Amino acid sequence: MRIVLLGAPGSGKGTQAKLLVEKYKIPQMSTGDLLRAEVAAGTDLGKKARAAMDAGQLVTDDVVLGMIQARLARPDAKNGFILDGFPRNIPQAQALDAMLARLGQPLQLALLVDVGADVLMKRLTGRRNCGSCGAIYNIHFSAPKTSNKCDKCGSSLTHRSDDNEHTVSNRLKVYQEQTAPLANYYKAQGKLRTVRGVGTVSIIFKTMTEIIESQIRPLADVMGKIESAAQRAAALAKAEEAKIKAAAKAEKIAKAAIAKAKTAPTTKVKLAVKKAVIKKAAPVSKAKVKAKLKTKKTAKPAKKAKGKSKTKARAKKVK
Ligand SMILES: [Zn+2]
Repeated sequence: MRIVLLGAPGSGKGTQAKLLVEKYKIPQMSTGDLLRAEVAAGTDLGKKARAAMDAGQLVTDDVVLGMIQARLARPDAKNGFILDGFPRNIPQAQALDAMLARLGQPLQLALLVDVGADVLMKRLTGRRNCGSCGAIYNIHFSAPKTSNKCDKCGSSLTHRSDDNEHTVSNRLKVYQEQTAPLANYYKAQGKLRTVRGVGTVSIIFKTMTEIIESQIRPLADVMGKIESAAQRAAALAKAEEAKIKAAAKAEKIAKAAIAKAKTAPTTKVKLAVKKAVIKKAAPVSKAKVKAKLKTKKTAKPAKKAKGKSKTKARAKKVK
């Protein structure tokens, strides 16, 4: 399953992402984590990111997309991923879609964890931390029993400087301007589902898994059918190509044979030549035979003549 999580700071989508990772055994890809990992590993992308950060610039979208693509290639992402914190604006979403389309792994679902602005404000500005034991409180929702004192260890609670009202309202304003329009972007693709991010963590999580299972499972079935149809089409095309290749090969062989026949005598011609040679040779041998016969004929009368002369001679002797 390939999911993008959307939600304002304080929506609790980070907490939900971790629960989804556990349930579905797919990795959560947060750009912050990817950046830290690439920089630590000293990869080319990490070096580029480092250079941008050192220069006080934002890491460019193509570096971030490169990191996501590299992360997707790892075996644990073969069944999908949960993207959290990226994309943050429409151009990033478009670039992400283009990259995932190239990989043949389009997003299946954009899950928006929707929380009202007033609740977000209270969640973000009301946070208090215990510096000693790490306990977290919220003065609006889970206040300590004694004001500004940790229930567990009694230490004083601290208020992070970036949790003040001014900073928080700025962060929420940036989200409203840049990231909130993403909901419409994915809505237009028919991929947006919204879950109200108010209530207990477990109830919100249950709602999210119900959405995921009702949206992605049927979609996966359809995608599977499309994929197998595409595979059949590809196999047919391959067979057709093989046929064309075989025909081309046969034509080539035939052409070569014709060319050979034009320059060299075919076996028929060769046979005809052989026959002609034999015919030519035949009269010669007949003549030889005749000549032999002639010499025999002429030799016999010569013998006769000799014989006659002998008898004549004998007759002369008898006389
Ligand atoms: Zn404490």
